Amino acid sequence: MTVPILKNYVQGKWFEGRGGLVDIASAVTGETVAKTSSAGVDFKGVLDYARHVGGPALRKLTFHERAYILKDLAKAITDKKEDLYKLSTETGATRKDGWIDIEGGAGTLYSMSSKGRRELPDDVILIDGAPETISREGTFVGQHVYTSRHGVAVLIDAFNFPVWGMLEKLSTALLAGMPAIVKPATQTAYLTEAAVRIMIETGRLPEGALQLVVGSVGDLFDHLIGQDVVSFTGSASTALKLKSHPRVLSEGVRFIAEQDSLNASILGPDAGPDTPEFDLFIKEVVREMTVKAGQKCTAIRRAFVPAALMDAAEAALKARLSKITIGDPALEDARMGALVSAAQCKDVREKIRELAGEARIVHGDIEDVEVIGARAKKDAFISPVLLRCDDPWGAKKVHEVEAFGPVSTLMPYRDLDDAIALADRGEGSLVMSVFTYDGDIARQVVLGAGAFHGRIIVINRDCAKESTGHGSPLPVLVHGGPGRAGGGEELGGVRGVKHYMQRTALQGSPDVISKIVRSWTRGAKTDAGAPHPFRLKFGELELGKTIETAPRTITLEDIEHFAHFTGDTFYAHMDEAAAKANPFFPGRVAHGYLILSFAAGLFVDPAPGPVLANYGLDDLRFLTPVSPGDSIKVRLTAKSKKKRNDDYGEVRWDVSVTNQKGEPVASYDLLTMNAI
Ligand code: NAP
Repeated sequence: MTVPILKNYVQGKWFEGRGGLVDIASAVTGETVAKTSSAGVDFKGVLDYARHVGGPALRKLTFHERAYILKDLAKAITDKKEDLYKLSTETGATRKDGWIDIEGGAGTLYSMSSKGRRELPDDVILIDGAPETISREGTFVGQHVYTSRHGVAVLIDAFNFPVWGMLEKLSTALLAGMPAIVKPATQTAYLTEAAVRIMIETGRLPEGALQLVVGSVGDLFDHLIGQDVVSFTGSASTALKLKSHPRVLSEGVRFIAEQDSLNASILGPDAGPDTPEFDLFIKEVVREMTVKAGQKCTAIRRAFVPAALMDAAEAALKARLSKITIGDPALEDARMGALVSAAQCKDVREKIRELAGEARIVHGDIEDVEVIGARAKKDAFISPVLLRCDDPWGAKKVHEVEAFGPVSTLMPYRDLDDAIALADRGEGSLVMSVFTYDGDIARQVVLGAGAFHGRIIVINRDCAKESTGHGSPLPVLVHGGPGRAGGGEELGGVRGVKHYMQRTALQGSPDVISKIVRSWTRGAKTDAGAPHPFRLKFGELELGKTIETAPRTITLEDIEHFAHFTGDTFYAHMDEAAAKANPFFPGRVAHGYLILSFAAGLFVDPAPGPVLANYGLDDLRFLTPVSPGDSIKVRLTAKSKKKRNDDYGEVRWDVSVTNQKGEPVASYDLLTMNAI
């Protein structure tokens, strides 16, 4: 069988490296499954193509248009997933491992697509927070915004998640409007290449939005500029080399690093052997050791238990680990597959030997392993290895050395403070788990360890069944960690998109700011002329369109009627003396909800029309009490619009209710659904 030669996808074409081909071996059989090279790629040309072709094309699209592209890419990957699973097996991954990578990758695209459509505007500027009042008269305001960076996202991935690793970065970069150059780890580049092919073949990506380099990045770093972002996942040593590249330093290139991590798990002091939390902890440690043969940046490397439970925990872990069958990941019976390569396996063995200077191996054999499947050549297989270190304060390496395989060290702690201090000796990690049924213990852990961990997962009997597990980063939650973990952050929904954008503080008149951000700002011009804004369809409604109502006086009878009608007879509305004794009220006052209801009665235009439904209120504040005899009036102004589909869109209205003295009574955003 001829061995395929992987191709780079650069400057709009598939390009085979000119010589210098590197063999990539199957983790399972050791045979060459692909050859690759990036020799001959014009890296400056690749960057220029992204900057001058991909960037402008992406920046023309709104967040929603980009989000729809992500959805189509996710669909294409899902449709062709079986092709990817086949290749994934050669990386040593079982079907379950492959699921995390392939379907987890597509899921990340779907999720970011949906976040993009729900939480980002159908525009190219993202508003960050409310306008800031920075002048007495309100003629000069401040507003933070994000716009797409005019550079390239250079996405460098580790070998362990060739699909997910690419897509978690790509989804946020594309959504932000930044073109990407993907550089997978050579060892598993054939799977990334296949996934990129699927995405390119959809025809949905604008020209230049995605390029692929399968092999070395040559002199690419020498041509980076300050608008670029490098997002790197891999070892601490490579991260250090790349982030201290002279060009990265001199140009101020944004660098996001996700690297090694000595993630910890703590069995709470309340979780004795007879509790569900003890069993959950044992299951999770074993799962984290064996999923993806432990080649997960988030895997539990250090497991801490109360000193008195060391023997019980060791026995329970060993009992479970002994049931793990190892072998050809294509076989259903194989619970754990291979490490990615014989070299990686050798490295893991060496790291275990280092750890074994401070800890005892209590399960597993690093010299030999029993594997199932005729195809499986033993070189890249290793059994799960559990170490036990009874003196975690005397030890150093167990907190520093990451054996990137099915390896974990069990350690005792004296009390909760000791457990927290030990967990923090990892000096920064991606995730920590705590198994406790006690919320106070969990809070103490978060206070003591939050600063050291990018994610903390608390697992107990109530949530275990639905828990996504210690080791699974989710698109909606941030992934990354301080210190040793690289100090980077990715994903977290829209948070992850912002890493590829620039935040700018705008200052100017309300009118100009409103025009820039396409959202009416208080103080900007309004149009209070006919017709009533509720008579205008979504497409006809201009921002700033306003209605200013006539006043309405609120009587004591109104307040009493409302109180008895709704059942809200709270004393502040009903009892003059008690209301007066309250520090906020001069006497009996109108209900806040009465004010809202009367406000609606004042501004609503009742006949059927383009306004289809009231969708809710945001940022509601009651500012001045309304006493019987006071009168209120309302100003309602179209603030922003978001198309939902071909039939209707969401209109956000700025509402200000004032009293007869012009004092603010209530302020809120009203949301309506309006016909297109
Ligand atoms: P690695 O050797 O550091 O490689 C990572 C990536 O960097 C690969 O794509 C590699 O490409 C590339 N690279 C290496 N030298 C480079 C250079 N001079 N210029 C540009 N790119 C270069 O790491 P790995 O062995 O693939 O991955 C294992 C490590 O990654 C573990 O330590 C693990 O903890 C960490 N990891 C962290 C996370 C996280 O999210 N924090 C996730 C997964 C893995 P080549 O393969 O072509 O050399």
